[in-house]
Amino acid sequence: MKIINTVQSALDMHRPCFSFEYYPPRDRANWPAFFQKIERMSLLAPRFIDVTWGTGSPTSMDTLEIAKDIQAQTHIDTMMHLTCTHRSKAQLMDILRDVYEGSELRNIMALRGNRPKDGIWQPHPEGFRCAAELVRAIRDAYGDAFCIAVAGYPEGHHEFGVPAPEFAGSDEYYRQIEHLREKVDAGADLIVTQLCFDLEQLCRFRDDCVARHIQCPIVPGILPIHSAQTWEKIAAFSAAIPAKLAEDYARIGNDAAAFDHFAVELLSRQISFLHAHGFWAVHLYTLNHEKLISRVLQA
Ligand code: FAD
Repeated sequence: MKIINTVQSALDMHRPCFSFEYYPPRDRANWPAFFQKIERMSLLAPRFIDVTWGTGSPTSMDTLEIAKDIQAQTHIDTMMHLTCTHRSKAQLMDILRDVYEGSELRNIMALRGNRPKDGIWQPHPEGFRCAAELVRAIRDAYGDAFCIAVAGYPEGHHEFGVPAPEFAGSDEYYRQIEHLREKVDAGADLIVTQLCFDLEQLCRFRDDCVARHIQCPIVPGILPIHSAQTWEKIAAFSAAIPAKLAEDYARIGNDAAAFDHFAVELLSRQISFLHAHGFWAVHLYTLNHEKLISRVLQA
């Protein structure tokens, strides 16, 4: 089923719902354990599950297989990410035909794709130049058959790092919201955001989107702090860390129990804040970790 329908009904009823993002394990030998984890986490009743697309990586086509298998095995609505990187329009449309004809999966997150580690993003010579073009092509070919999600950036999209706090409110910030509106106008049903710790900014971003006539649901992406490595390698490079949070983290040092307490308390607090501010649907970047999310959602 299309996730926009179930997400919208949760929003209409002010009923909390969650979704889980996974990435394909690099090694096929790890697939059985991965699927078992998804089965266990499915008992937490995520509203939908999504699977990232490994831009340029040899495992990118694994996403297709894994997303179709999750849909078939769990019967939970599943969304496959698809990026414009390295593939012609015809190749991407072949992938979509495979999804449409070969599975019940009806949810696509349409993305441009990450830039390469050491360069700028270049379109394929016969490819799409941005996510909006991919969204439009899916709508042209399939009408309303697919629910299409797109990426939003509460703190701004920046190729080379986290934008400075003053970016919000700048001309470029509003220009990016215009680009987001282009994606919605092209046919997107839903926006899922980049991970964000500054939840006040997330609220402001939503208000700024609404003020610019973006009517579709905005689902905030939250990164649970599964480990110190998650914090040091991912969180700090992908989103601004509010000063108070940085201080709390700095106090932990090597104390494992204090880290555990910090991670659980932070995720619980973020979810409570989001619900209190009308974000009934929350998207969790699992990074394929189970423990923290299970603990917090069961509680
Ligand atoms: P677009 O919306 O196409 O925007 C790309 C850039 O072009 C932006 O800076 C935008 O401001 C600019 N732009 C867009 N339209 C115009 C225009 N008309 N004129 C001028 N400038 C324009 N990456 C992966 O490789 N695989 C994944 O599975 C994946 N999943 C993601 C999930 C989420 C929720 C998010 C937030 C990001 C994800 N990404 C993923 C990362 C994403 O691919 C990168 O952030 C990428 O750099 C931008 O993708 P986009 O779809 O937002 O691009």
